[in-house]
Amino acid sequence: KGGKGQKHKGGKGHEEGVTPRSEDFGKWYLDVLKAAELADYGPVRGTMVIRPYGYAIWEQVQSWLDTEFKRTGHQNCYFPQLIPYSFIEKESNHVEGFSPELALVTQGGGKELEEPLVMRPTSETMVNHMFSQWVKSYRDLPLLVNQWCNVTRWEMRTRPFVRTLEFLWQEGHTAHSTAEEAEEETVRMIRMYEEFATKMAAMPVVTGRKSKIESFAGADCTYTIEAMMGDKRALQAGTSHNLGQNFAKAFDIKYLDQDGELKHVHQTSWGVSTRMVGGIIMSHGDDKGLKLPPFLAPIQVVILPIGKKEDQLKAVNACAQEVHDALQASGIRCKVDSSTGKSPGWKFNYWEMKGVPVRIEIGARDLETNSCVVARRDKPGKDGKTFGVPVESESLANLVKSTLASIQDGMLEEAKQFRDSNIVDVATYEELKAAVEEGKWARGYWVGSDELEEKIKEETGATLRCFPFEQPAGDGQCFMTQAEAKEVAIFAKSY
Ligand code: AMP
Repeated sequence: KGGKGQKHKGGKGHEEGVTPRSEDFGKWYLDVLKAAELADYGPVRGTMVIRPYGYAIWEQVQSWLDTEFKRTGHQNCYFPQLIPYSFIEKESNHVEGFSPELALVTQGGGKELEEPLVMRPTSETMVNHMFSQWVKSYRDLPLLVNQWCNVTRWEMRTRPFVRTLEFLWQEGHTAHSTAEEAEEETVRMIRMYEEFATKMAAMPVVTGRKSKIESFAGADCTYTIEAMMGDKRALQAGTSHNLGQNFAKAFDIKYLDQDGELKHVHQTSWGVSTRMVGGIIMSHGDDKGLKLPPFLAPIQVVILPIGKKEDQLKAVNACAQEVHDALQASGIRCKVDSSTGKSPGWKFNYWEMKGVPVRIEIGARDLETNSCVVARRDKPGKDGKTFGVPVESESLANLVKSTLASIQDGMLEEAKQFRDSNIVDVATYEELKAAVEEGKWARGYWVGSDELEEKIKEETGATLRCFPFEQPAGDGQCFMTQAEAKEVAIFAKSY
């Protein structure tokens, strides 16, 4: 039993080296990153190395979003990483918001630079410098671009994937002729993120508007998707900003309208980062390790040939390879693990810990009946197994596809129930404190000031996550000031 120091505990235990999630969520997260080979720390504090398995999840995120961006008329391009410091200073709110997080390059080629350069924390200033040259007339609008790149923000508190000094993301930047169009685009993109989170990541989110305090520096309005992690903390998983004309004025982006007048454009920007990978891990994992939603899993099915004697092994390996090729041909991402020197039990645990949704076992006796066993990651033991599944390619592929879809649905349902049972409606500040104390999200009518929002943060650690788009019918009383309020807001501790 066990190979190279990694043991398993009779099948029901966890991979050694992964603290059970139920024991210590924070430690579990870091253990999973290491054991599942997702990421490592970089040598510079707060930086991260994304390993192939972690990067493959990011590629799944990219692939869906990139297709949707293009379907909705956006084009990819690339802007340089080094930004003249003077650009950052042009929009006053933007510079104020970002200056604590800027990384500056002051030397180049062994000489002091005349003007420091900023490692992009986001590219509004660079993009708009170019937009001011590209936009001339109403015919140039809407201008819809996106770039996939890295950004640098000198974060003080860091956590792999969730908050790193350098991270990967996409940033969309658009310019429109009217305020209505810009608002439509801002909403379209946050709804796209919502669809990705729900449909692909099985991560139910609350979509809504940020408070003034929590909005993007330089935006008129920020929309967000907020997800509940397995420890009930909130994660801002994506944002879409209506920038109004703030940058258009700072960078003088004007177009000649049909009526012959020169007008400033209306703009948006929006982004999803490698934080999404952290969100997926923390939404679904369990005591055994990672649990990946099938639609995003880099390996959806692992095929394990099981046999003792050499001739048995030869036969099961050949069958496993055939199954692999047939599943792959029908569009399923799969892998055969025919490695030697590890027991079947060790391999079961290993691939469970790696979060692979479906396992196919092919033993010597299965060969006699030309069948295999299909096991689900989300249902432990016999309950999750289908025995005697014919290896004949089409029926197996169909069963695997419906199993993957059923796991995906089940994961979304479970996460939804978890979220909904941990949001508490509050009518007073005392009730909010009690809910936050229990680690839950508090939802209540709110018309409080910025100062009161800060006070809640200081006294409870909870921040205003968003005013959800989906609001209860009717008005209510602000839980803090008792004044008439039109909207509820959600407060929670967050990452
Ligand atoms: P922002 O431009 O600040 O709205 O950021 C866009 C998105 O990037 C946010 O909604 C987060 O999901 C993500 N993000 C922000 N800061 C970080 C960071 N330090 N590390 C990873 N992701 C981040």
